[in-house]
Amino acid sequence: MKKLRISSKTYKITSVILTVAIVAAAIFGIVYFSSRNNPYEESFIAMGTVFSVKIYGGDKEKAGEQIKEAVVKYEDELLSKNSEDSAIYKINENGEGEISEELYELMTLSQQISADSDGAYDMTVGALTGLWNIGTEDARVPSQEELSQALKATDYKSVSLTETSITLAQGQQIDLGAIGKGYMCDKATEILKANGVESAVISAGGSVLVYGKNPSGGEWKVGIRDPFGTSSDIFSALSVEESYISTSGDYERAFTENGKTYHHILNPQTGYPADSGLSSVTVISSSGALSDALSTACFVLGYEKSLPLLEKYGAEGIFVTHDKQVYVTDGIKASVQITEEDFTLN
Ligand code: ADP
Ligand code: MG
Repeated sequence: MKKLRISSKTYKITSVILTVAIVAAAIFGIVYFSSRNNPYEESFIAMGTVFSVKIYGGDKEKAGEQIKEAVVKYEDELLSKNSEDSAIYKINENGEGEISEELYELMTLSQQISADSDGAYDMTVGALTGLWNIGTEDARVPSQEELSQALKATDYKSVSLTETSITLAQGQQIDLGAIGKGYMCDKATEILKANGVESAVISAGGSVLVYGKNPSGGEWKVGIRDPFGTSSDIFSALSVEESYISTSGDYERAFTENGKTYHHILNPQTGYPADSGLSSVTVISSSGALSDALSTACFVLGYEKSLPLLEKYGAEGIFVTHDKQVYVTDGIKASVQITEEDFTLN
């Protein structure tokens, strides 16, 4: 009798404790679940464009703050053509300089893409971009005389690069504008990993990183900008697993003089804006720097000549011509969905 009473009392107490525990677990679970599913979001201006980050899980705030710090630091200290403290600025000023291991790696990749694209991508395009100044108030069409001078200095082969130093040829200027934002997506990946982040979307102008699993389930869906529309219009949706996606387009930075429009991706052979019949190229690859530089190279090369280059790097591409014809490499044919009916998938 006594034993029974005790046991029944024990049962009651246990059941109360259990109920509390279950309720607490449920509340904790809801809070935990929603905090995991509420992303850390931030946008900021750097490298002449808008960076935006959306991060889920792990130490997301810390990761977000570190990414912003890294972008600002890399721009100011390493990559910028205009910041007087940056390594590139000093190299351009002095025609030579010491380089860090990181800059050596980035420049080696850069030089390799130049060689593989027959100079369609060329980091020594700086003398030309400095004349055109596209994207600034000083944009103008240079004289033929100026262009031929700058063209002489535009040649990746005449850069002398060692593991610790770089020497430029006469008049040569480095411009890492076509690889820098993608490179920052690679740096962002390192930070996301170190902070145990589960999923993230990092976008830097035309370069995007989708990291980890899509928190809404399934593959990531990335909208590809309509090169004829406004910045919020898309013409297709791409379904991908974790990857880096970069778009180069003639709409990004441009100016008009005497009724003619000039955009910011230059053909290092002619010194003029590239004119290979494309309005945009999107490259998907497993590295940010690679997808960024390749999208610029492919924009200059045009569709046909880009195919062996993409194949060499195991990258995929989406090409849009001026007359809204869309060409897609075989590896992603099934993953591209055209969302605007006036575009034709070939
Ligand atoms: P965005 O910077 O708009 O994302 P890109 O990645 O295509 O576009 O890079 C274009 C920038 O790269 C230009 O603003 C210029 O600084 C530089 N650039 C232009 N033409 C070339 C080229 N042929 N090779 C390497 N860099 C280039
Ligand atoms: Mg690029």
